[in-house]
Amino acid sequence: MTYSSFIPPQRTLMGPGPSDVSQQVLSALARPTIGHLDPLFVGMMDEVKSLLQYAFQTDNEMTIALSAPGSAGMEACFVNLITPDDTVVVCQNGVFGSRMAENVRRIGATLVLVEGEWGRAVDPASLDDALSQHPEAAFVAFVHAETSTGARSDAKVLCEIAQKYHCLTIVDAVTSLGGCELKVDEWGIDAIYSGSQKCLSCVPGISPISFSKQAVDVIKNRDVPIQSWFLDQSLVMGYWSGNGKRAYHHTAPVNSLYALHEALLSLKNEGLENAWQRHQNMHDLLAKGLAELGLDFVVPENERLAQLNTVYIPDGVDDAKVRNFLLNEYNLEIGAGLGQFAGKAWRIGLMGYGARKENIALCLAALNEAISSTRQTL
Ligand SMILES: *Cc1c(COP(=O)(O)O)cnc(C)c1O
Repeated sequence: MTYSSFIPPQRTLMGPGPSDVSQQVLSALARPTIGHLDPLFVGMMDEVKSLLQYAFQTDNEMTIALSAPGSAGMEACFVNLITPDDTVVVCQNGVFGSRMAENVRRIGATLVLVEGEWGRAVDPASLDDALSQHPEAAFVAFVHAETSTGARSDAKVLCEIAQKYHCLTIVDAVTSLGGCELKVDEWGIDAIYSGSQKCLSCVPGISPISFSKQAVDVIKNRDVPIQSWFLDQSLVMGYWSGNGKRAYHHTAPVNSLYALHEALLSLKNEGLENAWQRHQNMHDLLAKGLAELGLDFVVPENERLAQLNTVYIPDGVDDAKVRNFLLNEYNLEIGAGLGQFAGKAWRIGLMGYGARKENIALCLAALNEAISSTRQTL
């Protein structure tokens, strides 16, 4: 067996993540690696923190980039805040809500599931009902942007309901951060996590997270230690703060953080509101083209995510053949259906740097050709 360097092809990524990474961000990755406790690197970490505070629209001191993917950000929020004595209400309207529920089960806490229809936003009235029946509940968890279905829930309203019942909120913003309106402080979100590879268009493997003052108090006043040493935020915080003096916890992914810094810088330069609007404009353009191809959206118009477009696969069209055609003929990746939508829908991502006109034109033309040519061969 002989080995040689791996040279990936140049793909266009229009799936559920990772999204296209710009040359500017890729170049940042290739800069010289320096020590993770080097004062210059520590200074850059501080900038990453404040750029993340901007992206999340929060003043939370405990806002950092976790050295692990979005799933670890999810786990960090659950294991830090929840103990086996707690009751947690989880809204589940797709794959990622199910994973939240699984986190609660594994902690051994009491789970109250608010089950919603796949492809729809979380129903605020159902959450209100569950909370009125469970006054012992202390936490509400939901997914803002359900990447498995393309539905956007009204995070502001869901947080208001949670607050009415004096619950802290845990919000999955993996696909929403940078792609649609998200205001952590204004909406009163207590724990939130995201991912580097969706609308931030950075390389995968980093999870931006943020905890409110109230959430930090819960973490500090736990009587049982957090079961995970690596994800224990009371330890991680010593690594991300301390007036220039940092306590070694683990080695940060130095070059990946250069890339995240660069990606956050482009977001800041574009302006958060402008980025949200660009995603919406690109979605409108794509939706028009998909309608012309005769493809129907899964999610009702007012609950759709701009950054993740789920459409039904037309009758008589072979799912895998179309996706293979796009990949092999056009170097274009779109997402397969997940969970209940496996084999029934495609997920077309317009995330971050990928949310641009050239990608939409390519996708519509390639999809049109793929559908007609694979139909003929059936
Ligand atoms: C992608 C995604 C995750 C998981 O992120 P990873 O980086 O793949 O671990 C969690 N929640 C949502 C909504 C996602 O889209």
